[in-house]
Amino acid sequence: MSIPQKIEEIKKSIPEDVTLVAVSKTKPNEAIMEAYDGGYRIFGENKPQELTRKFSELPKDIIWHMIGHLQTNKVKYIAPFVSLIHAVDSLKLLKEINKQALKNDRVIDCLLQFHIADEDTKFGLDLSDAAQIINSEEYQNMQNVRILGVMGMATYTDDENQIRSEFSNLKSIYSELKSNFFSGEESFKEISMGMSGDYKLAIQEGSTMIRVGSTIFGARDYSNK
Ligand SMILES: *Cc1c(COP(=O)(O)O)cnc(C)c1O
Repeated sequence: MSIPQKIEEIKKSIPEDVTLVAVSKTKPNEAIMEAYDGGYRIFGENKPQELTRKFSELPKDIIWHMIGHLQTNKVKYIAPFVSLIHAVDSLKLLKEINKQALKNDRVIDCLLQFHIADEDTKFGLDLSDAAQIINSEEYQNMQNVRILGVMGMATYTDDENQIRSEFSNLKSIYSELKSNFFSGEESFKEISMGMSGDYKLAIQEGSTMIRVGSTIFGARDYSNK
């Protein structure tokens, strides 16, 4: 099956209002252009340098999502063009995004990343960290970031019940934040959860945005990196 056919097949299997982010990290421009020529526009990358290079080399109507962990000192490279930053996990990072967005005269959309997995290698906030950020005077004064929702990654395991309960936990976190802080904000509506191995479960648990790489583009090869 071609790349556009795979995208089509996933799109057919998910609700219309769930956004599919085609995760193109490590893949060459040609693979992205195959998807692009098939009509697809939303791509996710997890390294600022690779994202910036692909942005400069590829058509300008691509909607780029930064899905990976982002270091503060790298924000400036992606601030001119990035559409959505999925993994905001500190006030410090949010401040820098706001600062760079202001420099570029834009508002940058973000998601707060939560730690939902049973692994300490994965980044993310808990509910009280998030409340602290949102309640801070610094955040209240930020004019150039907009928080659209939450993001999380489930544990890498075969245990479907565990994955399901982690996704369900993220959905509860979303609902809590929505009612406590964003009830008046229609734009706070995204729950980014689900990857190639678990997006079907994620959608059952309320995902509005799935990030799918290897099912679309094939397995990644890190051997010569
Ligand atoms: C790589 C990556 C994905 C996609 O993973 P696949 O298993 O290839 O679908 C999704 N989310 C994040 C944050 C990633 O880094």
